[in-house]
Amino acid sequence: MAVYFDNAATTPLDPDVLDAMLPFMREHFGNPSSIHGHGRKVRAAIENARKTIAHLINAAPAEISFTSGGTEGDNYAAFGSIRTLGLRHAVTSKLEHHAVLHTLQALEKTGDITLSYVQHDEQGRLDLAHLDELLKANGRSFVSLMHANNEIGNLNDIATIGDICQEHKAIFHTDTVQTMGHYQHDVQQLKNHFLVGSAHKFHGPKGVGFLYRRPGEQVSPLIHGGSQERNVRAGTENVYGIVGLAKALEIACRDMDAHHRHIQTLKDRFIARLTAEIDDVQFNGLSALADQSLYTVLSVSLPPSANSEMLLFNLDINRVSVSGGSACSSGADAGSHVLRALGCDPQRGAIRFSMSKYNTAEEVDYAVEQLAKMYRKVPA
Ligand code: PLP
Repeated sequence: MAVYFDNAATTPLDPDVLDAMLPFMREHFGNPSSIHGHGRKVRAAIENARKTIAHLINAAPAEISFTSGGTEGDNYAAFGSIRTLGLRHAVTSKLEHHAVLHTLQALEKTGDITLSYVQHDEQGRLDLAHLDELLKANGRSFVSLMHANNEIGNLNDIATIGDICQEHKAIFHTDTVQTMGHYQHDVQQLKNHFLVGSAHKFHGPKGVGFLYRRPGEQVSPLIHGGSQERNVRAGTENVYGIVGLAKALEIACRDMDAHHRHIQTLKDRFIARLTAEIDDVQFNGLSALADQSLYTVLSVSLPPSANSEMLLFNLDINRVSVSGGSACSSGADAGSHVLRALGCDPQRGAIRFSMSKYNTAEEVDYAVEQLAKMYRKVPA
């Protein structure tokens, strides 16, 4: 049996998404900027995709810009708003994805901003009173705090963060890469100025995503050239990617409740079986708490006897694909900045199981069995 439990890294393409994309690889090849019939056909598909996505998050089509994925959307939100509005201070947390952390650190290095980090406890819960203090003490700021953490699954309370940001007139971006297509996002309810999606995290194609931008929020272009995407992102559009992105989000939102239930059942099974099979198994962050963590992610902390790299290697030999990441920071293993920030024991191995609608209970049992046998004592 070969099993794939690395869906937070990327998900398999849904066959219905591929079917929607194929005509735009075969017969509909026109350039969407061309005004003739071949071009107009393709332009219409892009604008339909924009409408579909806008509708699914309760936005207007003009508020959606297509990007190459989550990283680019995070960069647009940060560079675009900090440079356009001349903001001098930004707030994030040490638990953010590098797409946010390294982007803000680059802006700090060039002297555009000073950067503050919201404190958190050892389980990764953000200290929102500290966020409030940081915003009170500094001028108008850019805030980037993710919805769900891609390594440990912690869900942040983006509604309350939005309220705090609004009180201090901060620009609030939230990285929703791991939750888009897995939770409903209604931009009329949220106070976010920006949020992002990346198709390959919800059974769409790689290399395509979108940025939502609240009306009135201008962002300066990162890519200069033609007037595509209302002058924000030049270059001929990734047409079949965009068509696939919209189809994938449509399916994900349509089937969300059923998938949520199915995947949470798998996660519960993982937790129960791992706890029964391996002594001293623990879960990083809030990963094991159903109401405070992303249902697709389970971050497991394993007893100190084994090292994380060997765990992954052994699982891989047994055809179980997962992600690892210990808190180690020496040698070739740069380790996980998230687990380090939580103060996790560097001697303990860490494995992230991340699930999708295609996984089954049998696959959970198989993966647990492969992991558990590495911890079983060989009979004398
Ligand atoms: N943000 C988060 C939370 C992610 O998990 C990822 C991808 O793993 C990204 C951003 C980057 O997205 P992309 O691969 O589409 O650039």
